[in-house]
Amino acid sequence: MAVEIPSTLSPSKITKFTNCPLAFRYSYIDHIPEPANAAQLRGTLVHRALQLLYAESVADQRSTQQALAALDVAFEEMRETDDMIGLGLDERATATFLREARTLVTHYFSMEDPGAVEPIGIELDLRATLGNVELRGIIDRLDRLPNGDIVVTDYKTGRSPRPDASRSRLIGVQFYAYLCQEAFGLRPSEIRLLYLKDQVVVVESPTDQTMRGLTSRALAVWAAIERACESEDFRPNITGLCRYCSYQDRCPAYQSSLAS
Ligand code: SF4
Repeated sequence: MAVEIPSTLSPSKITKFTNCPLAFRYSYIDHIPEPANAAQLRGTLVHRALQLLYAESVADQRSTQQALAALDVAFEEMRETDDMIGLGLDERATATFLREARTLVTHYFSMEDPGAVEPIGIELDLRATLGNVELRGIIDRLDRLPNGDIVVTDYKTGRSPRPDASRSRLIGVQFYAYLCQEAFGLRPSEIRLLYLKDQVVVVESPTDQTMRGLTSRALAVWAAIERACESEDFRPNITGLCRYCSYQDRCPAYQSSLAS
């Protein structure tokens, strides 16, 4: 017996499988949809607003006012989607949702000067082969510096991690550095995580060592996914993350944990 293995490996698949193989199966093998929550949709909205800001204005036009106008456009695109309707927000909750999104966009302008940024890619969909697996990731923004270096920027709309946990968060972004290296033949000189809520910027410079760490981890996770698909053995992993899992109702381990 075997189930069909996913065709690509992404940072979110690595995280999902590492956190709980059973949740990975529900999501990426059985394709059971996970309803988006307000925080996720607010993140999507802010990402789209910043995407529009860079796509539709030249450097000296990138103002807070311009970004908030882009947010309004992005919200109009989103408001009739199934995910947004599914949240069931009333007028007051919608106003709070939008106010929080506007705050995140406003915070962005205190973290970098968008007029000094020269993007060479926005929402860049990159793929690269590693061993027998195709890696895939979408980069929020790729910039070129005056000295020719390239820099990956990733917007985060949740809370910034504790300093001792920020390095593990960067593993996902090292993945993007690897994709750039393979796609452009140039490793980014910096990976920047912009935590808009707390106005914290985490920066790391990828090295040969971090790239080796990333590739060995990706290959190890992929081998574990292949084994799980071959044997149809996706073990549940009961942790504090179960609290946020969309599959609680169908997960036998979680249901048993409630009963005990
Ligand atoms: S409830 Fe917990 S154990 Fe069950 S699928 Fe979700 S994360 Fe895994």
